[in-house]
Amino acid sequence: MEMHLAGITRPCPRMSKPRRHISNTTAWPGEDEFAAEQNDYFSRQQSELSPACFYRPFDEAQLSYAVARAREHPLCPIAVKGGGHASFAGASNTAKGITIVLRHFDQVIVSSDRKTVLVGAGTRWLNVYNELEKVNLTVPGGRTGSAVLGNGSILDVNRESQPDLYWALRGGGSNFAIVTHFDMYAIPHDLMWGGTRNYTKQWIPSLIDFYVESGFLSPYQPSASQITTLYYRDGEYTATVDLFNVNPEPSNMLSNTNLTQVPYTSDTIAVTRQSQLAESNYRGQPDGLRQTYWTATYLLDGPLAHFIHQVFEEETAALGPLDGLEARCIMQVFANNTLHAMTRKGGNALPIAGGDQPLIILNPAFRWQQAGDDLKILQANQNLFTRVKHYARERALNVEYLYMPYASEFQNVLESYGPKNLDRLRKVASTYDPEGFFQTQTPGYFKLDGRVGW
Ligand SMILES: Cc1cc2nc3c(=O)[nH]c(=O)nc-3n(C[C@H](O)[C@H](O)[C@H](O)COP(=O)(O)OP(=O)(O)OC[C@H]3O[C@@H](n4cnc5c(N)ncnc54)[C@H](O)[C@@H]3O)c2cc1C
Repeated sequence: MEMHLAGITRPCPRMSKPRRHISNTTAWPGEDEFAAEQNDYFSRQQSELSPACFYRPFDEAQLSYAVARAREHPLCPIAVKGGGHASFAGASNTAKGITIVLRHFDQVIVSSDRKTVLVGAGTRWLNVYNELEKVNLTVPGGRTGSAVLGNGSILDVNRESQPDLYWALRGGGSNFAIVTHFDMYAIPHDLMWGGTRNYTKQWIPSLIDFYVESGFLSPYQPSASQITTLYYRDGEYTATVDLFNVNPEPSNMLSNTNLTQVPYTSDTIAVTRQSQLAESNYRGQPDGLRQTYWTATYLLDGPLAHFIHQVFEEETAALGPLDGLEARCIMQVFANNTLHAMTRKGGNALPIAGGDQPLIILNPAFRWQQAGDDLKILQANQNLFTRVKHYARERALNVEYLYMPYASEFQNVLESYGPKNLDRLRKVASTYDPEGFFQTQTPGYFKLDGRVGW
C-alpha cells in the first residue's frame, strides 16, 4: 500500500484563490450545504458541533492550500472528516474552527495490471465494493457501506520511501498527515457466502461457546470468519452471529463447530456479494442517533467470554429500557494468522502485531435518543470495562491494547501501544510534523500525549 499526504514534507503552495473557487469548496452557516454537511455524521454528538465553515477541497493542491493557511492561524482548530463515522464529538468535526471534508477524494481506480486499486480517502466502502465487483476484484475494507478509509496527498509514502512514516500511519491515527488516497493490493473476488443469523436469549451461552471455539479454529479456516453480537433492545436480550466465507460455499465454521445444533429464529445467509452485505449492515446502523463505542482486548478464553456476557446483561439491565436504547456487545477475534499478517509489508504500529495467541476484540456499541441519558450510558460502559478488566487481570488474560476505530474518547489508545511503539510514533511525528500541527491544531482524536479534545 502506498499513501499520499498533504502539506507535510515540502512547503505548501501559496495559492491565490479567486472568490468563485472559494464558494465552490466552502459551505457557510445558514446555507443548505452547510446543514447537509452537518447532518452527514454517524453520531448526533458530532452533528451538534457547528464549525465556522466546512471546506471541501477538490484536489491535493486545494487541500495543501487549506493546511498552509490554517497554519498561519494557529488558534483556529481544524478537524478532518473522512466518512464521519467516529462516534464522539469532535473526532471529525469542530466547534468554531474549520472542518475539512474529504468527500471529493472519492476515486476508485484499478491499475492496468489489476494488481492494485487507488482508493480515495473520501470514498465509501460501499462505493469501493460496487466499483470493484464490476471487474471481479476486492480490497480488505470495512463491513459497513458508509465507513471510509482515510489517506492523503503530495508526498508518496510507501514502505521503501519513508518506512517510519508508513509504519506510523498504519495504526498511529490522525497524528502525522492528511491522507488523500491509498494504493491497495487488489484481490480477485466474485461471489461469496454470508449473512446474519438471529437467536433468542436462551441460546446465548451456546453462541459464546461457538465464538470461542471458532476463534481458536480460525487459522485453520482462513477463508471463513464470524462476528458474535449480543443485543439489548426494548428490555429484551437477543443475539446475532454474522458468518462469512470468501467463497460461495457455506463456511466450514458450521461443519467444524456445534453452531448447526443451535436453533435460530431467522437468517439472511445467502450466496451474495460483499457490497450487499455492507449495504445491509449499513441499513441496520442509521446516522443521526446518539452513539458511544468502546473497546478492550483480552486473550481468547471461554470463561472470560461468558463473564463478558454476564456483565453486559447486568449493566444494561441496570439502565432499563431508555428511550431508543440499543446496546450491542460486539465480539470479534483477531486470530493468530491475522496477527502474523500485521508484521508483513512494512508492519504496523499496533503492539499486538506478530502475537501468537488469539485475541478477543470487544466492542460495546450503544445508541440512544436523549442527551439526558448520556452520562448513565457512559457510566454503564465504564462499569462494564472496569469489571471485566478486573476479572481478566486476575486470570492474566488482560491485553493492554485498544483498537482505535472502536475506542471511546475516555480511552488512552496510544498509551496502550506500549512505551516502545509510542516513542517511535513520537519520533516520526517530530520528523514529519516538527511544528506539531497535528498535535495542537487538529486536537479532536487520539493524540500522542494522551489528549482528546476539540
Ligand atoms: C456502523 C459502523 C461500522 C463499522 N465497522 C467497522 C469495521 O468493519 N471495521 C473497522 O475496522 N471499523 C469499523 N468501524 C469503525 C470505523 O472504522 C471508525 O469509526 C473509523 O474512524 C471510521 O472512519 P471515518 O473516516 O468514517 O472516520 P472520521 O470520523 O471521518 O475520522 C476519524 C478520525 O480519522 C481522521 N481522518 C479521517 N480521514 C483522514 C485522512 N484521510 N487523513 C488523516 N486523518 C483522517 C479524522 O480526522 C478523525 O480524527 C465501524 C463504525 C461504524 C459506525
